[in-house]
Amino acid sequence: MAAFGTVFMPEMAITKFENGEWTSTKNVPSDSIPMHPGAHVLHYSSTCFEGLKAFRHKDGGIYLFRMDQNVKRFQQSSELLKLPAFDAKQVEEMIVNIVRQYADEVPAPPGSMYVRPTHIGTEASIGKAAAPSSSSLLYVLLSPVGDYFAGGAKPLRVLLDETGMRCAPHMGMIKSGGNYASALGPILSAKDDVQADQILFCPNGDVQETGAANFILIDGNEVITKGLDTSFLHGVTRDSILTIASDMGMTVSERDITVDELLERAAKPNVEAALSGTAAVLTPVGTFIYNNKEYTVGSGEAGATTTKLRHALNDIQWGNAEDKHGWLVQV
Ligand SMILES: *Cc1c(COP(=O)(O)O)cnc(C)c1O
Repeated sequence: MAAFGTVFMPEMAITKFENGEWTSTKNVPSDSIPMHPGAHVLHYSSTCFEGLKAFRHKDGGIYLFRMDQNVKRFQQSSELLKLPAFDAKQVEEMIVNIVRQYADEVPAPPGSMYVRPTHIGTEASIGKAAAPSSSSLLYVLLSPVGDYFAGGAKPLRVLLDETGMRCAPHMGMIKSGGNYASALGPILSAKDDVQADQILFCPNGDVQETGAANFILIDGNEVITKGLDTSFLHGVTRDSILTIASDMGMTVSERDITVDELLERAAKPNVEAALSGTAAVLTPVGTFIYNNKEYTVGSGEAGATTTKLRHALNDIQWGNAEDKHGWLVQV
């Protein structure tokens, strides 16, 4: 199986914002876009994206998971980056139509079709370091993906970093390229220095998130995760897992957690930790690394509750359990 995100459908849906309005949607080949080398995005990082999935059910139907939430966040990212505003309806139609066009290519579970809407500032103006792009390009790429856990759900080693941060605090809610570039150096150092898989950014002891996933702590019947504020990305998977946990009768606590509390709880046998995001759903964390010491989380293995919650979410996505919150839209 090819690496996640390296295979693309031959066409994508595209629309442009020019002269104050959006063009009607077209399909174009997905292997190139015409762009001026002075385009705003290439110099001043006016870019944001989304990631959502379409699933194949046993009856052959193709369903998008919580598309409305992703489109809403896409609008929010665009607004915070001062990219042109767009109509949610137009983008939802772009997504539905391009997924429908490639319905036959949507892999069966545990695979899916990963959908990557992208919005970039295209105005050719290197003088606009402190001004927004007056034109933009918005496209929807499709990438069929396989089982993220094909090699087994190996618990991650996660470095707790209290001194750095993932991105500038006012950029936390924006799903934007610059934020990943900002976190890359620290992540590579953590891999080299302590063989960490990820960094959990905890500026001044405040447990936030990793480079591309939210953080969830499970202590017995309680799920604990940072409450929504502007400092981190509001994951759709996070919200879905919290909803499912609550449906299962678990206590959901959305509140700040400190590194001290995290390490204290991690020492208990029935504690689990996990990272949540669309690509991997819920990935178990087996070890925290902090100040050159290692702390095993619970048993150090993938926890039973983490696995149960992941399966419960997959069951809804794959059509094996009732979609009682109306999260799926058939294309
Ligand atoms: C995309 C992303 C997430 C997870 O969001 P989902 O909507 O669950 O996929 C979490 N944190 C960051 C920084 C992200 O980019």
